[in-house]
Amino acid sequence: MVAFTRLRLTGFKSFVDPTDLVIEPGLTGVVGPNGCGKSNLVEALRWVMGETSAKQMRGGEMDDVIFGGTGQRPARNIAEVTIDLDNADGSAAVFRQFRELEITRRIERGSGSVYRVNGKEARARDVQLLFADAATGARSTAMVSQGRVGAIIAARPAQRRALLEEAAGIGGLHARRHEAETR
Ligand code: ATP
Ligand code: MG
Repeated sequence: MVAFTRLRLTGFKSFVDPTDLVIEPGLTGVVGPNGCGKSNLVEALRWVMGETSAKQMRGGEMDDVIFGGTGQRPARNIAEVTIDLDNADGSAAVFRQFRELEITRRIERGSGSVYRVNGKEARARDVQLLFADAATGARSTAMVSQGRVGAIIAARPAQRRALLEEAAGIGGLHARRHEAETR
């Protein structure tokens, strides 16, 4: 599985100033008082992996991930999140030639998102497939958000099967088949 090694944010939700987090091997915990931005950090990970639902980001529209201003500071018009990955084992199959991957998503108010992989512009689909192959995607079983366990218990068989397929690492194959069939 790919390992996250560094997370950088700027203008994303409450992280208005450039923030650089080195992610060491092993277990990482994020602690802090209510409202300090713990969930926003997890959402930054989800977002850079290609999340398309504003609701999943606790917003009404995707522009809501951009710093919206406070009493002291004006709103921003751009948010950017970059995640560095160690791809030494080639889990991110499409980008197997790169030992290290740097994935950036940038949103500008009113004009949507662009993605870059190692500095080169990429499609949202490429980034989503990268993480689907690595079984760490924005909606994957690797990210368990509040209420998700209950939702799995209550899920219909087809939804539960999709989760098992994701866990087995074949989610990316289905996404590719769907893309091929709809072309
Ligand atoms: P808890 O312990 O209650 O779960 P938390 O550490 O997870 O708290 P978050 O939910 O990550 O906290 O952060 C909430 C804060 O982020 C709120 O103060 C909210 O105003 C701020 N916030 C969210 N979106 C934006 C935005 N677009 N612009 C500015 N601030 C934002
Ligand atoms: Mg929280």
